Amino acid sequence: MKEDILHNLKVIDTRIQNACKKAGRNPDEVKLLLATKTVSAERIKIALENGQTLIAENKVQELKEKYEELKKTPHINHFIGHLQTNKIKDILKYDITCIQSLDRLDLAEKLHQRLLAENRTIEVLIQVNTSNEESKFGIDPSQTIELTRKVSEFSTLKVKGLMTIGLFSAESEKVRQCFKILKNLQQQIIREYIPNIEMKELSMGMSGDLEAAIEEGATIIRVGTAVFGARIYPDSYYWDEGNNDKSKK
Ligand SMILES: *Cc1c(COP(=O)(O)O)cnc(C)c1O
Repeated sequence: MKEDILHNLKVIDTRIQNACKKAGRNPDEVKLLLATKTVSAERIKIALENGQTLIAENKVQELKEKYEELKKTPHINHFIGHLQTNKIKDILKYDITCIQSLDRLDLAEKLHQRLLAENRTIEVLIQVNTSNEESKFGIDPSQTIELTRKVSEFSTLKVKGLMTIGLFSAESEKVRQCFKILKNLQQQIIREYIPNIEMKELSMGMSGDLEAAIEEGATIIRVGTAVFGARIYPDSYYWDEGNNDKSKK
């Protein structure tokens, strides 16, 4: 188990190095985030004890389940799943540094209210639906600048950049197009000179498409399967709205 994870991390590192070389980028500009949904705390710890620092869950329930066991091992927690407004109070208990999946105004408003009450701030990325797939969350690209502007007005939300999940397709050019859309939006937003935000981070690229994402400017790649192996649940369990939320029971 340990050997597998360490080997996989080495392979990912080589892929990052190669993609950066090809793109003429400095590998220090690309952070590896481990997507840990369905992965046990024990296995996550192996990665954290061997050089990894950045992890993220998709569901508040899983975050909660692993929290105690991971608390003593230094790491940074992001959140990359669809966040329901009724989970806001809950998620703020678990030391999340950045919510990468801010995709709508009512979520921003409610987060802000809660953060004000707790007298604290949180980093966020605006999640954009670059693939136009109904099953995925994220704000429409055409509405991204407007949402970013509105979120910038909430003093407790520190916008750091954008996030997207690329299209699932074997057609690599179509996948790459999603990353180009995100990069383009970032450049447009920078030219808007919106006060109180940063547009440094582009969170895009996963196990299957991280090279294209790095070539298109990713600063955070989110990798699960390629480090921890295949998951038992299909991704639709994590990405689709609907009544398949087993955590509700
Ligand atoms: C699961 C997940 C990933 C990682 O996907 P892999 O294909 O396992 O690398 C990245 N981003 C999000 C939002 C995810 O839910």
